Amino acid sequence: MGNLLSALHTWVIARAHSGSILLRIDDLDVDRCKDEFIEGIIEQLQALGIDWDFGPSSLSEHKSNYSQPNHFTYYLNELQRKLGPEEKVFACECSRKQLGKFEGNAYSGTCRDKGIPLTDSDVSWRMLIEENSKIIVSDFLLGEREYDLREICGDYIVRRRDQIPAYHLVSLLEDTRNQIDLVIRGEDLLESTATQLDLAKRLNLEQFGKARFLQHSLLSDEKGQKLSKSRGSFALLAKDLAEDSTRKRVFTEYLKWAGLKMRAQSKNQPKAQPETANEILELFLEI
Ligand SMILES: [Zn+2]
Repeated sequence: MGNLLSALHTWVIARAHSGSILLRIDDLDVDRCKDEFIEGIIEQLQALGIDWDFGPSSLSEHKSNYSQPNHFTYYLNELQRKLGPEEKVFACECSRKQLGKFEGNAYSGTCRDKGIPLTDSDVSWRMLIEENSKIIVSDFLLGEREYDLREICGDYIVRRRDQIPAYHLVSLLEDTRNQIDLVIRGEDLLESTATQLDLAKRLNLEQFGKARFLQHSLLSDEKGQKLSKSRGSFALLAKDLAEDSTRKRVFTEYLKWAGLKMRAQSKNQPKAQPETANEILELFLEI
């Protein structure tokens, strides 16, 4: 449910400002990102009446034109091509177990000076982060937040040990090549945004630095726990969304979360329930 509301929020804001929308489904991990999952996202959005201008409209279109594993070489070539001459990527051989010791903390720089060849198999690639690498994330809702990269993540990974490009790299390159100028995401990703802004600087991708960010609070249940698609009770399938009552529930949850209220048609009538995404958009435009 959380992801659906986030998508609806993005749609409402973009449409209210006559913006174009790109649907991007991150599928770096082929094993975890099954076909049903991709198809499910597309169908769920369609069932809610959310449309988009760019990106796949079906599983087959996603697979032929947008699937990220088809572009791994492109991402890694761009990393090498765009990396500023003063920047350094180094190889890290730390096992997951070794890194586990630092879990939740920034990478301590164990392999920074080991001189391990990048061509070695079974190594990840990390961006060398100097001390005092500060990044300011400027957000519509949250204002300016400053992050010290050494503190939040240290030398972050740009290519994983399994040779798959890191999420930050892929996300940044995709946003850049699609000329994204507004990024709407949950506030749990603020540190990711800081990392991506840092990477953009190091790769001279000015476009991303000029993008605007809007990071919203996450939807919580009554007990204050974050809702995500992994929480069974709120996981909705496209076929659930075919039911009027389920769609209404999603729209009502959204209004509650966004602090919007439907107006009663007349004094004696109860407040109307939103039935379509367009009704929510109209409500948003009245503010
Ligand atoms: Zn290491």
